[in-house]
Amino acid sequence: MITCKEFILDFLADYLDATLSPEVVAELEHHLASCPPCLAYLNTYKRTRELVGQTVPAEMPAEMKTILRKFLREQLTKEMS
Ligand SMILES: [Zn+2]
Repeated sequence: MITCKEFILDFLADYLDATLSPEVVAELEHHLASCPPCLAYLNTYKRTRELVGQTVPAEMPAEMKTILRKFLREQLTKEMS
């Protein structure tokens, strides 16, 4: 099972780049189907990438970092409670 944290930190960029194996993609899509916050985060991330162009800089825009931190905090709180 993939957790929110793994999805965001380990798989999101590769998922959008389509460099993952079909098995992993299936797992991610299963997670997305049952996890609206991750889906929302994915959409935000995709939009940001479109704004900055095809080549994504290694450095995340400051706004994305803020969203990511807030998101992870909320998700981790939820998972622990
Ligand atoms: Zn999730």
